[in-house]
Parts: sequence; C-alpha cells; structure tokens
Amino acid sequence: AELLDEALKLATNVYDMQRQFDFRRIQVVREYESDLPDVTCDGNEITQVFLNLLKNGAEAMAEKEYGDDSPTFILRARTDNDLVLIEIEDNGPGMPEHVRRRVMEPFFTTKPVGRGTGLGLSVSYFIVTDLHKGSMEVRSEEGQWTRFIIGLPIQREDA
Ligand code: ADP
Ligand code: MG
Repeated sequence: AELLDEALKLATNVYDMQRQFDFRRIQVVREYESDLPDVTCDGNEITQVFLNLLKNGAEAMAEKEYGDDSPTFILRARTDNDLVLIEIEDNGPGMPEHVRRRVMEPFFTTKPVGRGTGLGLSVSYFIVTDLHKGSMEVRSEEGQWTRFIIGLPIQREDA
C-alpha cells in the first residue's frame, strides 16, 4: 500500500511535468485494509507495474466524457490467503471483450502509432507472475470501469 501511494505520487509528478492531461483532476479513493502483512517484492519493479496501470487508467479516463461525476481511481489492498491483493480501478471507458482478452499480449495496443507501445501490460504481467510468482488479472465493464488485480505473495515468517 505504501508502494502504491509512492507510485501514485510519482505518476502525479511525472504527468504534471508532461502536462499530457490533468492528472490532478482525477479523484483517488483509497480502500486499504488495516494491518496488511509485508509482501516479498522488488520495490522498483512493482512501482513500475503500478505506474503502468495508473498511466493506462489516466489515458483511458482522458478518452471519456464525464458529466456530473469525475474521473476516479479506486485503489484497494487486502489480504487473500497467502497473497496481498492490490486493485487499481478506474471509471474510464472500460474495454470490449475482444480487447480485454488480449491486453497482456506484447505489442497489443489500441492506441495510435506513436502513442502506445503495447508493452506496458505484458511487461507488468511478466514482472508480477514470473519474477514475483504472483497473479495479475483484469476485469472490465464496457463503458463503466476497468480493474486490474495484482496478487503478491505474503512474506513468510520463516523465510
Ligand atoms: P499501451 O498503453 O502502450 O497501449 P498497454 O500494454 O499498457 O499498452 O495496454 C494495452 C491496451 O490495453 C491499451 O492499448 C488499451 O486498449 C487497453 N487498456 C489498458 N488499460 C486500460 C484501462 N485502464 N482502460 C481501458 N483500456 C485499457
Ligand atoms: Mg500502457
């Protein structure tokens, strides 16, 4: 959870500098379980994953018209058996089924040439599942929201 907050701060600063879109316009709701256990992870790599997901979320939300509500991230962290689950949800445009099935593929992108490499999610997937023996999945409701769920193994007492 601390890592996620760090990544968020970093993302806000980076986007603020780039002025690509107004990151500060995005509301952030945090729902962190108290007393989360420590996870075994490489801070730099996992920060990179969070940055990728936040960047995607912000880019997606920039594509949507918001009437009365505003672009919002919901960040969650909770324990589930031997994992800490971290969720990054945005209320952006979501994805149709055929996109959702392919987002973790290398070089898959729906963005115009020069805007997206299609590598963010495949690299993130590799970092989480291969390097950390964790889990990563995506859920989405078209036109409504997108949620990425990352599971990181809890540090064992005897490790
Ligand atoms: P890139 O951002 O360079 O396109 P990614 O691997 O980061 O590559 O993402 C792949 C594709 O997944 C994006 O082009 C987009 O279509 C889709 N996607 C990722 N995150 C979201 C999101 N939060 N909301 C909607 N679509 C998303
Ligand atoms: Mg991306």
